[in-house]
Amino acid sequence: MSGFALEVTGLRAGYGRSEVLHGVDLRVPSGAVVALLGANGAGKTTLLSTIAGLIDATAGTIAFAGSTIERRPAYERARAGICLIPEGRGIFRELTVAENLAVQVGGPVDDAVERLRARFPQIGERLADRLGQPAGTLSGGEQQMLALARGLLTDPTLVLADELSVGLAPVVVDSIFDALATVREQGASMLIVEQYVERALAIADYVVILHKGRVAFVGEPAQCLASDVFDRYLGSAA
Ligand code: ATP
Repeated sequence: MSGFALEVTGLRAGYGRSEVLHGVDLRVPSGAVVALLGANGAGKTTLLSTIAGLIDATAGTIAFAGSTIERRPAYERARAGICLIPEGRGIFRELTVAENLAVQVGGPVDDAVERLRARFPQIGERLADRLGQPAGTLSGGEQQMLALARGLLTDPTLVLADELSVGLAPVVVDSIFDALATVREQGASMLIVEQYVERALAIADYVVILHKGRVAFVGEPAQCLASDVFDRYLGSAA
């Protein structure tokens, strides 16, 4: 097996006739965290969705843990260990916290809650106190924690995280990044899209900058800081 959890080569994808990704090459080494940055509309969400199988690739290949997956349905990719935590949270608002977790684990949630408390205490405790509450009535931060918890309960080996911290208070963002750090310590690889560039750089081993559907830069965080790539591709976001 290669030393890459994920290898994307020449990937093209979009919406109907409108191509958004024009041949993207990207690698996530096993156990590494890659920050995927870029201006609004660069194609970051489209790339994560295509890797997860929610959008079909029109060309190119996606290899996950050495197997080609670009023709496999999303549920098989999820079962193989790829977990997309979508922007906008992707939880069932009318269902309770416990029911949201039950949908994920496919049965009673007691064990799941205990696992969450043991492995991700900040998130597990908070959710454990709110098991009977409809998810739609949670605070924004708690909703994001629930979305993250659902994903992490699948024991993913590749986490695709799309703007987890958007709109959240700094203290909640801390909890979420603590959880991501734990996931990484447990050996998972990650591709994270993040508005807060500093936060992303603090956790990332590598940075990939997407610009108009193409990779414009690949390097280590220190190389970004020492160059003008943020000014060129992210504008005021940096
Ligand atoms: P943002 O930071 O704003 O979320 P992004 O880098 O994640 O941006 P995408 O959401 O992947 O970018 O969008 C890339 C392009 O695809 C944009 O031009 C967007 O308008 C277009 N697009 C996204 N979703 C759809 C859709 N469902 N149908 C048609 N076009 C879409």
